[in-house]
Amino acid sequence: METLHSLLSHEEAIRRCLTRRVGFSAFPAPLGTDFLHQRNDKRNRHYLPACLIAIVIYNLFFISDRIMVPDIAATAWRVRFYVVTPAMALVMGLVTIRRFQRHTELFTMVLMLLTSFSIIYLLTRSHHPNVAHYYTGIILIAIFGNIVAGIRFKTGLVTSATILFAYVISLDNMPAMGREAGINSALVLLASLVISLFGCYQLESEARREFLHGMLQRINARKLAETNRKLAVISITDGLTGLFNRRHFDAIYDAQWRSAARVGAPISLLFIDIDHFKLFNDHYGHQAGDQCLERVAGVIDSCVNRAHDLAARYGGEEFVVLLPHTPLDKALIVADRIARGTKKLAIAHDASPTHALLTLSIGASCMTPRDNRRPEQLLKCADTALYRAKDSGRNRIVPLADEKAGAIVLHGSL
Ligand code: GH3
Ligand code: MG
Ligand code: MG
Repeated sequence: METLHSLLSHEEAIRRCLTRRVGFSAFPAPLGTDFLHQRNDKRNRHYLPACLIAIVIYNLFFISDRIMVPDIAATAWRVRFYVVTPAMALVMGLVTIRRFQRHTELFTMVLMLLTSFSIIYLLTRSHHPNVAHYYTGIILIAIFGNIVAGIRFKTGLVTSATILFAYVISLDNMPAMGREAGINSALVLLASLVISLFGCYQLESEARREFLHGMLQRINARKLAETNRKLAVISITDGLTGLFNRRHFDAIYDAQWRSAARVGAPISLLFIDIDHFKLFNDHYGHQAGDQCLERVAGVIDSCVNRAHDLAARYGGEEFVVLLPHTPLDKALIVADRIARGTKKLAIAHDASPTHALLTLSIGASCMTPRDNRRPEQLLKCADTALYRAKDSGRNRIVPLADEKAGAIVLHGSL
């Protein structure tokens, strides 16, 4: 599948092509190749039936051989049945094989030349006055090749010019073709080739425009999908820290609560709050405060590893960590890692009455969801634990498990 980047790299070229007249003028390289492949695929879908029609119609004219040029009817039949028809049948066989399918352009050209040359050859052999009409078969070949077979304009032009050239230089060798009839037939042939080539040009022009519009549609669809993807990420991410935002936490928390309820597994929560952050801002400035939030968020993120664990910015300088299927003692290990990791950042906090470095207070709680319990209870529990951590001096982790509701276990200052 194309990447958005590779599609976008075509966009300008596509728009440029669409603003000028889109004829047989080549597209820039990658677009041109894509177009030819697509066109080839489309042509191949109708190629076998087209070949079949060509064989039937071509061979129907064996009746004309008998009526129009009886002096060479036998030769005409030999050419028809032993040379041209087998060539057509061979092409039909080849295009059923995948690796020959990209050569249908060449096959069409060869068949156009072969059938036209066979008629020109017969015209040079016959002495019958009807040859003045027998050339008309070439007109049908031009119409069929240039329009029905879906040949490219450039190939059609070269093929048609070759046929006309061969016809004109053979005129002197057509014993039964009078001078006037010869000139007239060449003119009629020229007109039919030009008309069929004009049709060929219009078809290709239309196909090119359709291709470009199709590409633009694909580009727009991919852009839209990409924008939606980015929006989806933005809508669940906190802009400053890159952690998940509160909205996402709320949604996931609910889902995890229900999932834990189904299997009767414990679910743990950590409420994390930076100590004296207002003083930090006042002392070092808001920008330094922002950088500090980013760094603490980085630590929290690095400590939360398991697939269903989730770290989010709960608001301001508060963070929350959700640890499904985790008992309190394991949650405390995570909390400890976060507190120590933050200390390791060694962010000076000269304005803090608690510590010379930036510290955290963490409230940890754990609950096993049951019928009579609500998810808000666990949140409340973690919040209470956090307040107790603050009240008891900050820079510490306070666990509060529902089983021992009300019992505070001070983890001690770090
Ligand atoms: P405590 O130890 O009791 O938690 O004290 P505190 O100062 O950390 O708590 P308080 O709630 O009084 O102040 C929180 C401060 O966090 C206030 C605000 O200036 C700051 N804050 C909130 N959001 C942001 C933010 O996005 N960027 C910055 N730089 N500061 C923020
Ligand atoms: Mg704080
Ligand atoms: Mg706070």
